[in-house]
Amino acid sequence: MSLNPTYHSSRQLLSTPLAQVRGVGPKVQEKLSKLGLCTVEDALYALPFRYEDRRSIQKIANLREGAQEVFCGEILAVGEAVTSRARKKIFEVFVADGSGQIALKWFRYRRDWMKKQFQPGRRACFIGEVKRFGSVREVHHPDVEFITDGVRPEDALAADPLSFGRILPVYPLTEGLHQKTMRKIMQQVVDHFAAAAVSPLPQEIRHRHNLLPLGPALQQAHWPEQNASMPTLEQGRDPARRTLVFDEFFFLELGLALKHQGVVLEEGIPFQVNHRYTKPLAGMLPFKLTDAQRRVLGEIKHDLMRPHPMNRLVQGDVGSGKTMVALMSALLAIENHTQVAVVAPTEILAEQHYLNFRHWLEALGLKAALLSGSMTAGQKRQVTDSVRSGQVHLVVGTHAVLQQGVDFKRLGLGVIDEQHRFGVRQRGVLRHKGQKAPHILVMTATPIPRTLSLTLYGDLDLSVIDELPPGRTPVRTRVVFESQRERAYSLIKKELDSERQAYIVYPLVEESENSDLRAASEGAELLQQQVFPDYRVGLLHGRMKSDEKESIMAAFKDRQIDILVSTTVIEVGIDVPNATVMMIEHAERFGLAQLHQLRGRVGRGADQSFCILLRSERCSEDGVRRLQVMAETTDGFRIAEADLEIRGPGEFLGTRQAGIPDFRVANLLRDGSILEQARKEAFELVNNPAFLTDDSYQELRQALLDRWGSRLELASIG
Ligand code: ADP
Ligand code: MG
Repeated sequence: MSLNPTYHSSRQLLSTPLAQVRGVGPKVQEKLSKLGLCTVEDALYALPFRYEDRRSIQKIANLREGAQEVFCGEILAVGEAVTSRARKKIFEVFVADGSGQIALKWFRYRRDWMKKQFQPGRRACFIGEVKRFGSVREVHHPDVEFITDGVRPEDALAADPLSFGRILPVYPLTEGLHQKTMRKIMQQVVDHFAAAAVSPLPQEIRHRHNLLPLGPALQQAHWPEQNASMPTLEQGRDPARRTLVFDEFFFLELGLALKHQGVVLEEGIPFQVNHRYTKPLAGMLPFKLTDAQRRVLGEIKHDLMRPHPMNRLVQGDVGSGKTMVALMSALLAIENHTQVAVVAPTEILAEQHYLNFRHWLEALGLKAALLSGSMTAGQKRQVTDSVRSGQVHLVVGTHAVLQQGVDFKRLGLGVIDEQHRFGVRQRGVLRHKGQKAPHILVMTATPIPRTLSLTLYGDLDLSVIDELPPGRTPVRTRVVFESQRERAYSLIKKELDSERQAYIVYPLVEESENSDLRAASEGAELLQQQVFPDYRVGLLHGRMKSDEKESIMAAFKDRQIDILVSTTVIEVGIDVPNATVMMIEHAERFGLAQLHQLRGRVGRGADQSFCILLRSERCSEDGVRRLQVMAETTDGFRIAEADLEIRGPGEFLGTRQAGIPDFRVANLLRDGSILEQARKEAFELVNNPAFLTDDSYQELRQALLDRWGSRLELASIG
């Protein structure tokens, strides 16, 4: 591959170590590296987190309360006072400019130094936020620039353009690194290197979205233009920042688009829709599909009929009826003489799916099988044999089971339930199970905000079931202090006495030495003996053997158990509509997504269900916020948004496992609409045949290789 000189030399210049920039000695270099800044490029993309408007000097009389203002004046008087309440010392300076007076206050200061600096008669410029206490206006801890005697303030300010007369960047700092030093370094970097930054973003796209060239964008993001609007800057809607965010998203989406295309263009199995099984099933169901289920099924059908494999994510809140969509899709595959594999994240869920699928398949004269870790080798062989011979139409299992030596006669569809439980890679395993690439349907109940799912599952097509089946009553949720747990018990008893069942969830299996968590096993015993002696209490936890788990679940389903005490193993997919109350111990220790999943186990029938969140007296602020969100809404998408806000996208699903890229400039919470625009452009470009061949796209292809490298298997695009 021949390298384009512009792009190549730009890359080289930007990788210049910061140590080579004027003003960066070893000490400063070390501080910068603490901020993650090592090269010129790092620094260029370390954007200010806010700006200060120092374009004009205000008269003291005109200072606006609540605003960051710049004003000049003469020091009238200086003194120390003591606060009445906290008995802390305050250093006060009174300043006047002919229009009015204002007080400046310091709460932390070195007295001798302050006294020497702030002498009556000296003049200075001040920058800070103006506050009002009663009739008194004051500024706390202002920035101060003293003015030499005899010099006019305007001239003094003009002599220091790094501090005055413009909109100034405010950078994140580390200990011992001052804002002024940082600004100086950044100015050096921007002046000398910003122009070297070039983006291979195609010009027509740049024009279409009113973006700047990369160099000026970087320059203005650090040092906004003189006529820039502060509100626009504060909201991150200025052209400079929009350009940088678009650029960042565009390259991400371009990579995803190529990956998507690579899969999409594979040879698949085109299905025909003949309704041989789907129609009779529709007749047997005790309910009608919701509009959302039907719309999503339509999208799936459209994919299945194409000669390329489907690769679709169905996202639907807990209880939205994803299983029915999977069943219908499975029947379409079986109608086309292919087999179906259903992968579930836990043995319990696999078992439940199996019972459910088998029920409907048998009614249609079809055969379903379960592959479970607890089966004997002989039982397993029997199943794998009948899968290989094609006798079995649909096989359900956990991922581990499907991986080992299960071969299909003709695999047409792979369904992966609760994708969030798996890494993203596992999809690939299923894809190679058939002679021709099977269609893949991924289902998740994790209500990932759209912006996040576009990046997380960017190479999948997305369908959303955004409607619950009718007649559901939202779960009523209460936060109860541990000290009032008796109230929780009496609510549970009331439900049990009306022939209902209950879940009680604990965070851990066994009490660990340094934790005060109540263990589920201990809890179960205590509950059975002391609290609910007249009811049947069962225990389910992750360290049980899978046949033990299965028999407990079956007993709960059959109402042989009234109260199921459990760890979070019941979090996913379990469907027992007669359970109408759930109590969660130490609810403040759970994440929002997990609480939502857990709560989704109740409220599955038409009757009112309850969720009791038991909280400790002591509870972190975030913990309180999470419980509040749970009490306020049952809408999974709103819960997910709140979760994203509380935790930030990086932690939302665990960065490493989920493969969410770290963004330098973009903010997923704020920049969702730019992400969608960039995605659209990227996917359109990849569909344009010229993209892979035309010389004008060569820099772009090179940039993609640099950024994605081997992860994309992009050898073909060089
Ligand atoms: P999830 O999306 O969480 O996997 P399920 O597929 O387990 O949800 O469905 C939850 C419950 O709703 C099941 O009991 C299922 O039978 C029922 N259900 C599914 N679709 C409908 C519908 N269209 N109308 C009424 N009930 C439905
Ligand atoms: Mg489900």
